[in-house]
Amino acid sequence: MTTALKQALKTHFGFDNFRSKVQEDVVKVVVKGDRDVFVCMPTGAGKSLCYQLPAVMAEGITLVISPLIALIQDQVDHLKSLNIAACSINSKLPAGERSLILADLGSSSPKLKLLYITPEMVASPTFQPCLTGLCSRGLLSYLAVDEAHCVSQWGHDFRPDYLKLGELRGRLPGVPCLALTATAPKNVQEDVVQSLRLRSPLSFVTPVFRSNLHYDVIFRELLPNPYLHLYAFIQKSLALDSGSNRQGCGIVYCRTRDGCETVAHQLTKLGVLAKPYHAGLRPGDRTEHQNEWMQGKVLVIVATISFGMGVDKASVRFVAHWNLAKSLASYYQESGRAGRDGLPSSCRIYYSPKDKEQMNFLIRKEVGRRQEKRGSAKEADKAAITDFDAMVSFCAQEACRHATISKFFGDKTPSCAGSCDFCRNPKAVRAQLERAAVLCTK
Ligand code: ADP
Ligand code: MG
Ligand code: ZN
Repeated sequence: MTTALKQALKTHFGFDNFRSKVQEDVVKVVVKGDRDVFVCMPTGAGKSLCYQLPAVMAEGITLVISPLIALIQDQVDHLKSLNIAACSINSKLPAGERSLILADLGSSSPKLKLLYITPEMVASPTFQPCLTGLCSRGLLSYLAVDEAHCVSQWGHDFRPDYLKLGELRGRLPGVPCLALTATAPKNVQEDVVQSLRLRSPLSFVTPVFRSNLHYDVIFRELLPNPYLHLYAFIQKSLALDSGSNRQGCGIVYCRTRDGCETVAHQLTKLGVLAKPYHAGLRPGDRTEHQNEWMQGKVLVIVATISFGMGVDKASVRFVAHWNLAKSLASYYQESGRAGRDGLPSSCRIYYSPKDKEQMNFLIRKEVGRRQEKRGSAKEADKAAITDFDAMVSFCAQEACRHATISKFFGDKTPSCAGSCDFCRNPKAVRAQLERAAVLCTK
């Protein structure tokens, strides 16, 4: 079987090998088709292939649920460029194209291999009959739910529409279901399995610990010149002064558009070309900045969190957070965009207690607003607050940063061996906290 799989991998995707043993194992189980599967692997690990390869090898059609039209578009374009019959039905699709697709799906032997839809579409009246028809004719090979953490109220990206998927799954008995995500603490994993009504799924969960990432936290307000400090960090991370020709790049995350503009401007002034990326830019400029960064013409992109979903670049040598992430799970995902090639990379937070207070205020205000609308406190609201508190503790505690992350995700304590500031120099971490405490009481 392995040779047949490898053959198909080469023929359809042009890859000589599986990216990892896990990827191969998942594909094997999926192709067998008798089990539901839960996959939790880091971004960039090649989760899509886990359903795409089985999909092209199967007789029928694979239904893929993905949360964003932009993500879907990227995947569909990519598959089309490989000559794989893929398409998407979504609210933006012209009526003519939609009826062509529905006609193919209604035919006795549809040409389509992968059909991507958003969770909102699942419940749509135009799509329902089509789906039921496919299922009753035995033409559905697999149901793949990408970014499956969105189903959980405990997750950092909860999408109410994902809750409809459990019911969908219930109506497709006999169709093997795959749930895929990059970040899922234990409680979220359990939620996903339960909400999607997976039947004793086989789980493939990569440990969260990544030894090539070095984590540290710098208190921004203790610095005489924060921008210069960031600049020095970038220089070191990209080895700009060592004359090496290793082409690396990096990401600085900021919470606000103004923040992005300021940091990008300051860095460029200091001598490293940095460009902003945020929703306030004209779409053309935003795409251009992203492309320039992808191509290595711009070394540093200074972005709001809208940047990164679906961005896959191997040589990201650092991810710096100028502001806190909204949860520890988000932070793990955002910082995890560093070092996908396995080479040593740095993840740094420029922590500011003032900034923390502001975010704390905003998060609690948002939660209060939602509760007022609904009249009751929901699990998701509590999660927003506890997840942010976990992010703050990560910065303000004297403990191994990797251990904190692993513990948060329910993994056992990893052997950090100096891959974080605390393990490298606990005294320095304590000294910084003490200086910050003095500053606060002033
Ligand atoms: P994930 O969804 O886990 O974040 P993707 O499915 O988007 O990851 O894949 C990340 C990248 O890895 C893509 O560019 C994909 O083409 C590539 N990839 C996947 N499988 C392989 C493989 N077996 N060999 C080489 N590259 C692969
Ligand atoms: Mg993916
Ligand atoms: Zn450590």
